[in-house]
Amino acid sequence: MTEITCKLLVIGAGPGGYVCAIRAGQLGIDTVIVESTKLGGSCLNVGCIPSKAMIHVAEEFEKAAEAAAGKTPFGLTAAEPKLDLKQAVAWKDGIVQRLNNGVAALLRKAKVKIVHGRAHFRDGKTVVVETETGPKTIQAEAIVIATGSAPVELPFLPFGGNVISSTGALALTEVPKRLVVVGGGYIGLELGTAFAKLGAKVTVVEAQDKILPLYDAELTGPISKRLTALGVEVLTGAKALGPTPKGDGLRIETADGKERALPADKILVTVGRKPVTEGLSLENLVLDMDGRFIRIGERCETAMRGIYAIGDVTGEPMLAHRAMAQGEMVAEIVAGLPRAWDKRGIAAICFTDPEIVSVGLSPDEAKRAGHELKIGQFPFAANGRAMTRHGEAGFVRVVAQAGSDLVLGIQAVGQGVSELSAAFGLAIEMGATLQDIAGTIHAHPTLGEAFPEAAMKALGHALHI
Ligand code: FAD
Ligand code: NAD
Repeated sequence: MTEITCKLLVIGAGPGGYVCAIRAGQLGIDTVIVESTKLGGSCLNVGCIPSKAMIHVAEEFEKAAEAAAGKTPFGLTAAEPKLDLKQAVAWKDGIVQRLNNGVAALLRKAKVKIVHGRAHFRDGKTVVVETETGPKTIQAEAIVIATGSAPVELPFLPFGGNVISSTGALALTEVPKRLVVVGGGYIGLELGTAFAKLGAKVTVVEAQDKILPLYDAELTGPISKRLTALGVEVLTGAKALGPTPKGDGLRIETADGKERALPADKILVTVGRKPVTEGLSLENLVLDMDGRFIRIGERCETAMRGIYAIGDVTGEPMLAHRAMAQGEMVAEIVAGLPRAWDKRGIAAICFTDPEIVSVGLSPDEAKRAGHELKIGQFPFAANGRAMTRHGEAGFVRVVAQAGSDLVLGIQAVGQGVSELSAAFGLAIEMGATLQDIAGTIHAHPTLGEAFPEAAMKALGHALHI
């Protein structure tokens, strides 16, 4: 059996693991990374990147279809659009491939050794990797578990045949005529909206009494409106029961307790993600768990000295940029630098239509935390740039502590607001007050102007409403 020794071993090359390894390499740490599938993890291969590529395709198609139907308010007409979904999927796969190569190049540049294979623990310092050429033993002073997450399967609706996960949905080469989406969260609504734009008749079955239960009704309102306009049927308070006897649909129990069969060519199940811990032989370690997730402290340390965990395997929020930030921090900790998790916020974005972005506390969360609040909201209907982009739905909302005017949270819903997350995140991280935001000149005409206007509204003197 081949033996490797190193200072740092990273298990899993998703955004958490590969960033950790690159930073460690930059710091001169002798680092090995093990990956059982493809570099880049869920995010790059079957998550963030491919989903955003397909969302873009759907947006372009819908715009062309709107022009073909003569429905634009500015008189644009075009021929009936046709989409070769096979070519779109190939284009998406090409982007993924380029990024896979990019991650490999960055790891090489940082002098990180890449081992392809599945890792499992022998003990707290030793990992065995099953590779194509046989097992390899790796001894490391510090080990980072960055094994990510996988889709949750419903026992009565297992993946296979017409029942697909997000991975299957992103590989479809034909638009299903009727798509039933089980779970109206991030993935269900991002992909459900995209397929509706591509012409599928989409029905969303959500167990809770609202879609995107993480966000308040003000933020999700414009999304519900748009889903209705796209012909998407949203059934809240509804339970999936199982496939119809002929396998041509889904049986559900509606909110009023009645059973209904929803015809479906594909059933997309997006009811959350679970940590990937199976097969790691965690029983050979003494870790504290948080349900199925690995419990970590503020330095991403587990209950065992020298073993860290980062990213989705440690629980919510399961976001790529959180995993990356944790990875970068852990590399510096292993290098002996004084680091701990001191972030004031992690932006969350839902790439629906319109998009939602949220950083820091929502009004309800801030109230629950005992704060007296000043809240300012500015509608895109009063923003010139939003009008010129034909996207007036939505608003920017700033939540601040009364008295100090310290900004506690910023939310927005609207077309293209994902790009505002940078400004929102910076404001929260820098501890901005309402005056700081109101006093920063924002270029005209941009969607970003709604941000200081919302802060001025909270201060009682918005200029454009
Ligand atoms: P992962 O990316 O899951 O990577 C873990 C890696 O570990 C995998 O490559 C896996 O093969 C490897 N591995 C597991 N076990 C072993 C083992 N025993 N040995 C060796 N290797 C192993 N997040 C966002 O922030 N923005 C988005 O827009 C977004 N969109 C998404 C869309 C979809 C459809 C999905 C599914 C997810 C999306 N996410 C998004 C979530 C994002 O993908 C995850 O938060 C992120 O990938 C987590 O990174 P990670 O490094 O923790 O794990
Ligand atoms: P999610 O937690 O966002 O949504 C799951 C939804 O399914 C919830 O609304 C839940 O109430 C519902 N649900 C659960 N069980 C159900 C059942 N039996 N029947 C009907 N509905 C049911 O999960 P997801 O959409 O699978 O996404 C997983 C994770 O991936 C998210 O937590 C998120 O962190 C990450 N993600 C992020 C992005 C982004 O940042 N834009 C995009 C996609 C995924």
